Amino acid sequence: MITWFFCQFLEYKKIDETSSIYLCELILRDDHLNSKVESNRCIQDIYNMNINLIPTICPYCGCGCGLNLVNVNGKIKGVEPWKRNPINEGKLCPKGNFSYEFVNHEERLKTPLIKENGQFREASWDETLNEIVRRLQTIRDEDPDLIAFLSSARCTNEDNYVLQKFARAVIGTNNIDNCAALCHGPTVSGLNLTFGSGAMTNSIGDIEKANCIFIIGSNPLEQHPLIGRRILKARANGAKIIVADPRYTPTAKHADLFLPLIPGTDVALINSIMHVILRDGLEDQDFIKKRTMDFEKLKNIVKNYSPDSVEHIIGVPAADIEKTALTYGESEKSSIIYCLGITEHIMGMDNVMSLANLTMLTGNIGREGTGLNPLRGQNNVQGVCDMGALPFLYPGYKKYVLDSVRADTECEWDCDPLNFLPGLQMVEILEAAYDGRMKAMYIMGENPVFSEPETLKVKESLMNLETLIVQDIFLTETAAIADFVLPATSWAEKNGTFTNTERRVQRVRKAADPPGLAMEDWRIFCQIARVMGSSKLFTYQSEEDIFHEIRRNTPQYAGITYQRLEADGLQWPCPDVEHPGTPILHGEKFATSHGLGVFKPIELRGLPETPDDDYPLILSTGRIIFHYHNSNMTGKSKILDNEISNSFVELNPYDALKLDLSTQETVKIKTRHGEIETKVKITSKIAPGIIFLPIHFLDGKPNLLTNSKVLDPSTKMPELKALPARIEKI
Ligand code: SF4
Repeated sequence: MITWFFCQFLEYKKIDETSSIYLCELILRDDHLNSKVESNRCIQDIYNMNINLIPTICPYCGCGCGLNLVNVNGKIKGVEPWKRNPINEGKLCPKGNFSYEFVNHEERLKTPLIKENGQFREASWDETLNEIVRRLQTIRDEDPDLIAFLSSARCTNEDNYVLQKFARAVIGTNNIDNCAALCHGPTVSGLNLTFGSGAMTNSIGDIEKANCIFIIGSNPLEQHPLIGRRILKARANGAKIIVADPRYTPTAKHADLFLPLIPGTDVALINSIMHVILRDGLEDQDFIKKRTMDFEKLKNIVKNYSPDSVEHIIGVPAADIEKTALTYGESEKSSIIYCLGITEHIMGMDNVMSLANLTMLTGNIGREGTGLNPLRGQNNVQGVCDMGALPFLYPGYKKYVLDSVRADTECEWDCDPLNFLPGLQMVEILEAAYDGRMKAMYIMGENPVFSEPETLKVKESLMNLETLIVQDIFLTETAAIADFVLPATSWAEKNGTFTNTERRVQRVRKAADPPGLAMEDWRIFCQIARVMGSSKLFTYQSEEDIFHEIRRNTPQYAGITYQRLEADGLQWPCPDVEHPGTPILHGEKFATSHGLGVFKPIELRGLPETPDDDYPLILSTGRIIFHYHNSNMTGKSKILDNEISNSFVELNPYDALKLDLSTQETVKIKTRHGEIETKVKITSKIAPGIIFLPIHFLDGKPNLLTNSKVLDPSTKMPELKALPARIEKI
């Protein structure tokens, strides 16, 4: 902990007038009298203050930027960038800069709540936990698989590890999942089949070493701004930037080549790029021969995807497909960046495997400035998966169907025999709750009523449970319908670790005490286990004790210690304490059992629903720079909320004219599954026939419009990015 007695202030440079993109510069001032922040204070006040800067990690996107929380006289009053952090180098985006605001918000949960006769009443921890245990024990005795858990990408690795252990060793079920199922589930599955590991292959700092960056289904300048900054630096170094997106996003604005792809046609574009690469002999034959298998199968498929034959399907001119193939194929170091525009489709896994094919075809993997880089949306979505908060895998992605894996874990945990029946994924858990096949659910730090597709049905499913327990920092839409609400600590009030999108494990440090009776998530599970008579499984005195156990159970983390994380964090795999961590994966061999990368030939599949006369538009969804997820935290920041606080629908001027709509007009958006009301925003940055809704706002919630009945059979991903829709005047 550093104690400083001088003030700093932030100066925002609006670098892009039209797209509202800001880069934030910190200016260190040793003359506090000139500080904008403190200009109204007299010098005596400042010297009387006890100001502590506590280095920790931003709670928002998967970049995992370092920042200092400013604790003034015991309260968190601000944020200051952390200059030496290798990810953000002292810069922060608006979300990071105002990440402290929600911590002191008056609506923070401060005491446990029990619902009686439809109303919450405050209760003590003892009373609440005793009642929760009574209910869980009754259901567990009937059948442990009648209980399910939802873990959280916003909580620490330590919280998530303890929760999955509680579910498996105390309750006896593998019904535990996290939000990755609805974001990067296809990445985990698709890259496991092709590379043997479902993680970002290269590092954030590495991006600026590429000669060509192909960005598809991702808008880093808004969604991962500090990765966006690396892309801008790469461009300044001479790299060619190609962006494929249905919208002319702030990232697209910086592209050398923009491909206005029709949503849901990614596979055809990627196959066509590979067609040109093979036609022109740009493939890396040596790499293909030594490092991969099933190349001939790929050749047979992509030969049918000439640019001329796909341009009318995908909306990208054949000449631009050719240019993309030549630029990507001829560059010495080509990198691919993708995000939810690739994965949140019913064919998301196909899209991911197609990109893996393109990477291997040109040998653009295992080297600096190359790779296939999925950008994780939430701060710890990589960590929550690493910790085994997944229905089919233990910590470290170990397969518990193997007797030896279960036996080792039983020995390590010193617990009764573990359940070998496969757990349910989140959509299956909700389906089971809807049908009455699930009796209790315990949700930590997630808000499925907002974030899962088909909101109304999700709510009905959760209300159908005998017992719903929600542990959170605010009374979310999901907490409001719970039987028990447990007040947890925010990221600013806890110690532990987060793992960012580039697999970097970093320390999170407590900067203030929590409000009221709020308690760390892991401590709450330990308390419940104690009441259930399983305290010997949870003897941790601190987060570091939990991390020692994580290291023993998660081979990728074996060489990581809190002490080694003090400086810049470490990227897994890190198998022993001498190992420096792994910034680039698949250098010598892939992580598959045979060490080879596997080509997966993919044909373009149609969308589950196509536009027709009733629903002639295609609805796509996404994020904006000022908000995060369901805006539970960013919505509590006056400054961020002041920028944009309500939903809107973007549509092209051509469609607006056809429908006789004007900007700010309230309209209805209808799909075959629901309807919402929102305001019109007319912009030529979106192609005719396509409309866009941000995901963050309670008014105009896209999940009221989605369809969770048709799912990808292996990943259970619904179609979230290409829904036929229509707009109606009100
Ligand atoms: Fe936080 Fe992401 Fe912004 Fe960095 S880029 S400050 S991690 S929201």
